[in-house]
Amino acid sequence: MPHFSHISPTLFLELHQLEQLIAKYGTDLRSEVLATITVDGLNLPIWSIELGSQAADAPTIGFFGGVHGMERIGSQILLAWLENLLARCQWDEGLLHLLSKVRLVCIPLLNVGGLLKSTRSNPNGVDLMRNAPVEAQGFTAWPLGGQRLSPKLPWYRGQKNQLEIESQVLVRYVQEKLLGQPFSLAMDCHSGFGLRDRIWFPYASHRQAPPHLAEAVALREIFNTTYPNHSFYLMEPQSLNYTTHGDLWDYLYQVQLQSGNNHVFLPFTLEMGSWLWVKKNPRQLFTWFGHFNPILPHRLTRVLRRHLTLFDFLLSATASYQYWLPSEEQRDEYTQLGLQRWY
Ligand SMILES: [Zn+2]
Repeated sequence: MPHFSHISPTLFLELHQLEQLIAKYGTDLRSEVLATITVDGLNLPIWSIELGSQAADAPTIGFFGGVHGMERIGSQILLAWLENLLARCQWDEGLLHLLSKVRLVCIPLLNVGGLLKSTRSNPNGVDLMRNAPVEAQGFTAWPLGGQRLSPKLPWYRGQKNQLEIESQVLVRYVQEKLLGQPFSLAMDCHSGFGLRDRIWFPYASHRQAPPHLAEAVALREIFNTTYPNHSFYLMEPQSLNYTTHGDLWDYLYQVQLQSGNNHVFLPFTLEMGSWLWVKKNPRQLFTWFGHFNPILPHRLTRVLRRHLTLFDFLLSATASYQYWLPSEEQRDEYTQLGLQRWY
């Protein structure tokens, strides 16, 4: 029997929703508490959820949310999608067949303490996406790129060579669940940058093209040809916008590259363009929370719907990776396309 925190929905709605899902669909999913974070005397579990194939070599997709605690919308869109999937698991034979070929793993609320407090950083004041032992190369805007001066300032990296508990959880989980698979993909959901919804791929730490540029271009191509009316996504390297120290995905991507096996691991982040919500509702400017989250109810439901198609697509693309991953002969061509477009 899972060990629920029984946190009230008024105190922490998303944690309550997640535990409700686990309680309701316990036989359709596998759940685990990866760590517990204590804040204000409350013990907050970091839950993981797993669905689908248990085959040792199953292609695997990982979804992550709430790395930055005030970007609640990232957790909310994952919970909305999980609810949709689990409801369909009761009747949708097509989905059940798909899940027999692919494994889905998810940590919807990673920085539980930050989510409770609506802070970007964790309760120690550390920005988890600046916490990894990766140094950016070349120019990095200070302090946005990460700083070690004080946890009272934003983008604090934490003590040198010290991974926060939440970072350790993520690193261990991704190493165990994703890096060991022949093919894996990660999608980490954020908000707070720009007017467009962006899908970023590594690196954050420097402006060179990642070794898997060809695979990123191929994925972009099948998405665009399959969903020509979803052009609101801008898929690009993060480093086109800014570079940072300590990105956990850069770190995990490097770990994978250094392992020397031929596994393909493609980490992406979704950056929902929250300035759009502010533009349409300028009163949001006066709340800190409003910079990162849709406030008006109709806009929230629209955002919760908006990404279901992308997530379904990524699940199918992971299951069928052998059908679209470029072959050795095609890789050069795809890499050239990517280089021309972005570098
Ligand atoms: Zn973020």
